[in-house]
Amino acid sequence: MIPLSIPNISGNEWKYVKDCLDTGWISSVGSYVNLFEEKVAEFTGAKYAVAAMNGTAALHLSLQLAGVRQGDLVIVPDITFVASCNAIAYLGAEPLLIDVDPLTWQMDLDILEEFLDQKSFTVGSYDESGNEVLSSHIKDTGRRIGAIMPVHVLGNMVDMDRLMALSEKYHLPVVEDSTEALGSYYKGKHAGTFGIFGTLSFNGNKIISTGGGGMILTNDANLAKKAKHLTTQAKTDPFEYDHDAIGYNYRLVNILAAVGVAQMEQLPGFLKRKKEIDAYYRNELESENLKFQKVTDGVEPNNWLHTMWVEHQRPLIEHLLKNEVQCRPFWVPMHQLEMFKSCTFVSEKQISEQVYRHCISIPSSTGLTDDQVHKVAEVIKAFYI
Ligand SMILES: *Cc1c(COP(=O)(O)O)cnc(C)c1O
Repeated sequence: MIPLSIPNISGNEWKYVKDCLDTGWISSVGSYVNLFEEKVAEFTGAKYAVAAMNGTAALHLSLQLAGVRQGDLVIVPDITFVASCNAIAYLGAEPLLIDVDPLTWQMDLDILEEFLDQKSFTVGSYDESGNEVLSSHIKDTGRRIGAIMPVHVLGNMVDMDRLMALSEKYHLPVVEDSTEALGSYYKGKHAGTFGIFGTLSFNGNKIISTGGGGMILTNDANLAKKAKHLTTQAKTDPFEYDHDAIGYNYRLVNILAAVGVAQMEQLPGFLKRKKEIDAYYRNELESENLKFQKVTDGVEPNNWLHTMWVEHQRPLIEHLLKNEVQCRPFWVPMHQLEMFKSCTFVSEKQISEQVYRHCISIPSSTGLTDDQVHKVAEVIKAFYI
């Protein structure tokens, strides 16, 4: 079977992990965690990077520190991996689902803007320090919109200038689900550095992997400190068991950070290989029956997972599996999942359902040989003859 998206362990992973084992620094303190954070901050241009045990934990903490609270709504696209919505629900908040663009499969900003324009109003209140804060609320229910979470689906991005302008106009803190977008840029600025928080995932199928892992990105020193504090049980004293908040055991362990450091060393090579494979597939396969994800002006994606909108999706999936080519349909739209069925879904043409019914992901691993990539293309071409 030609694999869909598997880790590429071909650098210093063994060496750095062995170093952890040899020195006994396997757990939550050790130099690789700091080094990994530094490397990710340097690569993305974020001022601070705080390691977490996975991307979902990074999202949960970021939303909490962005001020999302019980009863809030959080704007999120209807096409995303379920973890985005789960993280919202962990805080007692609720996803406000926005339909996606039919060509980029990202949140449709036309739909979002019209919704905010017609269905929301602004409320002023005061925070603990007596400063006035403005927020948007829904006209029918009065519920507050606590944040907006763009998801850079497959490493692609929306028009971030427009999204940031909307966030400002409607007083919505931005927490980016950039878990798939390490190595993606909008007008030269790295994904995850636009909002007050960005998040990364190093799950097994992501562009770099630590087995499981995540990172919180922010430019705010105080928020970075708070994030680190909450990932480590909000401990206030190195000796006494003293804590000043309900914290989490969300930190990344040193062994996994060691893998991360080795993976970061290889990231430029991975990105190059992803681009090559993407260009080959697009060149060979784009046709009447088959369209790749559209990339809009200003976006330089990481080409993480090669995905296409096809005719005859389910028969093609069967054909690929029969020919030993691993593939996957896209995510079931969030508004169709049992837990999120009652959430507001803002849509004109139910595009997310079509994306689900038409899109499939094909082998994208950076370790694929040219022969394997050619075989994938040939198997797909043979299906449409
Ligand atoms: C992978 C992913 C996550 C979650 O990351 P984990 O590290 O698996 O917890 C969240 N959102 C999206 C869009 C993802 O693809």
